[in-house]
Amino acid sequence: MLSSEVTSLLDRLGVAPDRRHGARAVRSPLTGETIANVEDASPQRTAEAVALAEAAFRQWRQVPPPQRGELVRLLGHDLRAAKDALGRLVTIEAGKIVSEGRGEVQEMIDICDFAVGLSRQLYGLTIASERPNHRMMEQWHPIGPVGVITSFNFPVAVWSWNAALALVCGNPVLWKPSEKTPLTALAVQALFERAAAKAGNIPDGLSTVLIGGRDVGEALVNDPRVPLLSTTGSTAMGREVGTQLARRFARSILELGGNNASIVCPSANLDLALRAIAFAATGTTGQRCTTLRRLFVHDSIHDGLVAKLKQVYASMRVGDPLMGDEILVGPLIDAVAFQNMQRALEEARVHGARVHGGERVEEKRFPNAYYVRPALVEMPAQTGPVLRETFAPILYVMKYTELDAAIEQHNAVTHGLSSSIFSTDMREVEKFLSVTGSDCGIANVNIGPSGAEIGGAFGGEKETGGGREAGSDAWKAYMRRVTSTVNYGNDLPLAQGVRFDIDQG
Ligand code: NAD
Repeated sequence: MLSSEVTSLLDRLGVAPDRRHGARAVRSPLTGETIANVEDASPQRTAEAVALAEAAFRQWRQVPPPQRGELVRLLGHDLRAAKDALGRLVTIEAGKIVSEGRGEVQEMIDICDFAVGLSRQLYGLTIASERPNHRMMEQWHPIGPVGVITSFNFPVAVWSWNAALALVCGNPVLWKPSEKTPLTALAVQALFERAAAKAGNIPDGLSTVLIGGRDVGEALVNDPRVPLLSTTGSTAMGREVGTQLARRFARSILELGGNNASIVCPSANLDLALRAIAFAATGTTGQRCTTLRRLFVHDSIHDGLVAKLKQVYASMRVGDPLMGDEILVGPLIDAVAFQNMQRALEEARVHGARVHGGERVEEKRFPNAYYVRPALVEMPAQTGPVLRETFAPILYVMKYTELDAAIEQHNAVTHGLSSSIFSTDMREVEKFLSVTGSDCGIANVNIGPSGAEIGGAFGGEKETGGGREAGSDAWKAYMRRVTSTVNYGNDLPLAQGVRFDIDQG
């Protein structure tokens, strides 16, 4: 029984017993069984949490940023200690294989480390003024409570990309996790509270988790006291949320779907490409926003590479990730994900595809769990389901002859998240990375499109939403910019040479 293991993990992670009952049943995709119950946040509780966050903001914004960083350092410390337990809970609740569950927690630790350094680097510019005895500068100030809405497939890492930055930038965080993964969220909140107690003087309401469905998310989206919402999920969700936020002029960071592709050129190291493609297309059972979904292979190497991929796909171990490290493909999140996958494969066949794999892998002990063999789909052209994101392990493979045409096809989808090229020819590589190359937010060379490090800004273009999170200067989205011009002289020259001489008597 998984539920007894979940109880002991929640105990170890410090989740109070009174948070573990309620009307919402939490299900594990590993077995399909109910592993716990939790209570949704009522509208009143949500409104109170926002009020508390607003009060916390008044205090927290005045704490020097390196002291805010100290809280995040302590959180990173506790995450290190909890890596195995929290990683295992990610596996049980989201279905990831064990190394990916632990990897997700490692990503949280990494962003905490990054944010601690950042807490001493919230730099603004000084800018040359056109007027004598004047100086211009930029300052970055905290913005206010940040709403964070997250998807099931990265149940804890996405919160940390946002929260670690938001906290050092001086903002409280209100988190609405996926309704499919509330337990890992409660565990992270417990770890946060432990770190806050060690840090001391942390205002109540600096970090809150609000369990619930889209209604709880909508309450945050529509609350004028929340000036910034960072939302991760499907493009359909982002379209609704983005429109609502724009209506009240709130800021948004939208991290939405992807329909990511790679191009394999004749000069590629094919052994390297094979491993990279297999991981990018089937890792997390195809349920990453950066999962490789479309593969363009030069016709001179197409048949050989497809033959090898077929072998790899047929031999991949699919099953309950708790059974051992040799399992590389865990379950889909639920029955709906399975039905969407089957529908996409049917549609592909209608468009002339040859489908290898994709069938359900029966786990006799768990009839309500949805295990599948990843699908390798040879497509005659980029049509039908290839043009959209199906959140499942389906890799559509297509031939190309000219790189320019392949890049055009690569960009001819509505999403723009991640991409990659496999080549050792610098002209091909540079073209792919150039202004006429990939139109995505992430463009890689000789690695797959998935598995980003936290040091870079993460996000994508077009219907991926345009947001950026994590490294580089993504922190700027969590602060408000103030441009100040200081006159240290005794005259008042106006900008652009404007004259406005009043009679001063
Ligand atoms: P989803 O859109 O079903 O749900 C995501 C979150 O949004 C959930 O917490 C949900 O309750 C909430 N939500 C849904 N509608 C809402 C509304 N109208 N108002 C407020 N909140 C609302 O997505 P999912 O199935 O959990 O995740 C899979 C999707 O997320 C895929 O499309 C994937 O590509 C995308 N994703 C993107 C990134 C990224 O960084 N770009 C990362 C992970 C996942």
